[in-house]
Amino acid sequence: MRECCGVFGVYAPGEDVARLTFFALFALQHRGQESAGIATSNGKRLQVHADMGLVSQVFSEDSLSQLAGDIAIGHNRYSTRGSSQIYNAQPLVLGKAPNTIAIAHNGNIVNAEHLHKELSDRGYAFRTSTDTEAIANLILSSHEKDWVDRIRYAMRRLQGAYSLVLMTNHKLFGVRDPFGVRPLCLGTINGGWVIASESCALDHIGANFIREIEPGEIVSIGENGVDSYQEESERRATCIFEYIYFARPDSVINGRLLYPARQAMGHELAQEYPVDADLVMGVPDSATAAGIGYSQCSNIPLCEGLLKNRYVGRTFIEPDQRIRDLGVKLKFNPLPQILDDKRVVVVDDSIVRGTTTPKVVKLLQRAGAKEVHMRICAPPIRYPCFFGVDMASRWELIAAQKTIPEIRDFIGADTLGYLSIDGLVKAVALPKDIFCMACFTGDYPIPVQLEMDKLALETAPAEYLSPFGIRQ
Ligand code: SF4
Repeated sequence: MRECCGVFGVYAPGEDVARLTFFALFALQHRGQESAGIATSNGKRLQVHADMGLVSQVFSEDSLSQLAGDIAIGHNRYSTRGSSQIYNAQPLVLGKAPNTIAIAHNGNIVNAEHLHKELSDRGYAFRTSTDTEAIANLILSSHEKDWVDRIRYAMRRLQGAYSLVLMTNHKLFGVRDPFGVRPLCLGTINGGWVIASESCALDHIGANFIREIEPGEIVSIGENGVDSYQEESERRATCIFEYIYFARPDSVINGRLLYPARQAMGHELAQEYPVDADLVMGVPDSATAAGIGYSQCSNIPLCEGLLKNRYVGRTFIEPDQRIRDLGVKLKFNPLPQILDDKRVVVVDDSIVRGTTTPKVVKLLQRAGAKEVHMRICAPPIRYPCFFGVDMASRWELIAAQKTIPEIRDFIGADTLGYLSIDGLVKAVALPKDIFCMACFTGDYPIPVQLEMDKLALETAPAEYLSPFGIRQ
């Protein structure tokens, strides 16, 4: 499963806004590793530097020094729509002066193809294959004069998930879709303002967290400060996976710090699936806190049985299966001296396709573990995501194909326990109805997505439809 993207914006005259954006993107690197970019405005024109690679690979002192201005936006990309190519790297700069905008997007627009066709027919040229360009062209196509009205026009046409930062020559905007699927927050820095996907980015650059941007809210920042505009929001649908895996544990979403929420997932797992064992470990880093929680609740000692190589880059540095297969070995090294002859509880964040977990189990068994008991912080993922998370098509999801005992046998574990939906909600300690949990339940906040799911099923290779066929 891959994260979506990270976005950041800063309005701070007199500050080195490009450098601030660089360090904020560095803190948001976990949200996207394929490309990175920064755009700045000096009040007269917008300029951008974006390229493929990690933030530290894309920028140098030289490239940052070229990005002068008082306003900046930045983006870390993992491609959810549009291929992983330099021309798709964000921020995108579009429009003709004086109506030029720079835009960076986290999420996925489900009616992007329809909008793309409509705007193409109206003469708007597209130079990328991203849904972000459809958003930008929709904003630019509005006949309204005021930028907030233009954004409002676009919001009424857009379906899907979008946390956006946008910049004109003189203003910075933050926009969150009416469901609030992806996070977005507001902070201050030295008299200026910042917007970020996650609050951890604010901490790292010394900014003060003010509040989260509300679902359906537009925040407009200029020389007179911050103005807020609210579009109608019928239902909240914050992605529950932000709590399980995507966001950093030191971030705050919906007022809840993620680290204790993840610890509580481990507590709940220990209560739902107790087992006699010698050691507990969380798969680093996303399940570390949940592993601690399981250990605390079960009184089984905590250990580090797998060490993660943090310098190898990400497992998903290239989105192809062969590299992904190699990735587990590149990423983890087991500790036989700790694991030998032990019954080990292994807490992990999720099982998606079921390609990584059997390798982790085998690594531990080869290192001497006598029993491996897998405990998963998420309920079984049976439906794909259309909200900006590239997990898989439905026919690739192991829990859509197999029963839980079959999955246990497939991954080679002695026992397997998935956290229940109620256990997950209890751990997050927020009302159930503010979350999207469609990948567990199939209850999508937007009905059109079911049609996309049906299409995905129809195009699944025949071998994936039996013996655990999903057309029945
Ligand atoms: S379908 Fe799952 S991954 Fe996608 S937004 Fe909803 S909860 Fe998150």
